[in-house]
Amino acid sequence: MAEKRNIVIKIGSALLANQDLLTPRFGFLQRLMEDVTRLRSQGYEVILCSSGSVALGLRIVGETPETAGVSDKQAAAACGMPLLLNAYKQVGHEFGIEIAQVLLTLGDFEDHRRFLNTRNTVHRLLEAGVVPIINENDSITTEEIRVGDNDRLAAKVAQMVGAKDLIILTGVDGLYDRNPDDSEAQFVPEVTDVSEYMAATQGKSTLGTGGMATKLQAANMAQEAGCTTWIAQGEVDRPLSTVLSGERRSTKVHANPNPLSGWDSWIANRLQMAGSLVVSDRALSCLPETKVPITRADIVSMDGDFTRGDVLHIYDKHGVERARGLSDFTSEEIRVLTNNPDTDADQLLGYRTKGEIIRGANLVPLETRHLLWDAPAAIA
Ligand code: GLU
Repeated sequence: MAEKRNIVIKIGSALLANQDLLTPRFGFLQRLMEDVTRLRSQGYEVILCSSGSVALGLRIVGETPETAGVSDKQAAAACGMPLLLNAYKQVGHEFGIEIAQVLLTLGDFEDHRRFLNTRNTVHRLLEAGVVPIINENDSITTEEIRVGDNDRLAAKVAQMVGAKDLIILTGVDGLYDRNPDDSEAQFVPEVTDVSEYMAATQGKSTLGTGGMATKLQAANMAQEAGCTTWIAQGEVDRPLSTVLSGERRSTKVHANPNPLSGWDSWIANRLQMAGSLVVSDRALSCLPETKVPITRADIVSMDGDFTRGDVLHIYDKHGVERARGLSDFTSEEIRVLTNNPDTDADQLLGYRTKGEIIRGANLVPLETRHLLWDAPAAIA
């Protein structure tokens, strides 16, 4: 492979922490890091998105996965993180791999300056030949400002660094068309449209946060950013290279051949929206082919308190979310503009403006390509 290719690997808690003792699973880590070494020698830049801090810290705070509440888990994450990184450090040392810890919160993705800053840091680490180990900073995040699970965190990271591949290592061998305990369940080796399987995948694992549904949401986010996702069992030798080579079974979620640009993807893939607009059919009639600006005359109603540069949901009159867009005005300014439709915008606002609430370049049609995210789940 001549050019370096970014790959993100998401590793679930159950692979990293022993289910009963809640201690690091060094055997797994050895198999993983050995394969990371192999991938790096093939020209991949590897970024790990690792769960496990909560599970590894639970005993220290005197809790179990069943008894721990939110603040117990936040404290457990603070205790478990050094244990997790120490385990990676020790095993990485055996293979000559330097590792680094990067703890992120939702704001590091949603605020564009912080997004760029975080991306620069990850790129700099890769340039130095270091393997970044990324996790959500669970100890300080509250439910309202969490990504919520590491499946989607990994997809956000993949989107951020322009990765072409995302491997989600988990305790099952991939996706089934219904509950895998059902004897009729069929394995699904390839997926293009994740929405076909969303209903069949509710439910979650006991040690981590995600279930198959969050994995599919993550895969959807990745595919729209032009990244292929594999969902695979992690409990094997060469857990990564056997997935990429197709030597063993996994579920492959294909990248969209016409991915969103980095900017569009940043706008569309958001967990927290500052507000919303209901707009006229005129503004939406040319979507998705042509993006016309949304003007004040198009606004039917508005919700939320937001500022310039915030991303908004754009609904049609039937309540269907049709697009997302970056507002050029504060909600207060929009209120002034729409309440005085016949007065010049420059005069109302006291500065020169074209009066476009959302410019065409800052409008991303969702159509069928984007699966909406749920509110973040409670911690781990
Ligand atoms: N951030 C959590 C942890 O380190 C895991 C969340 C998840 O597995 O989705 O334990």
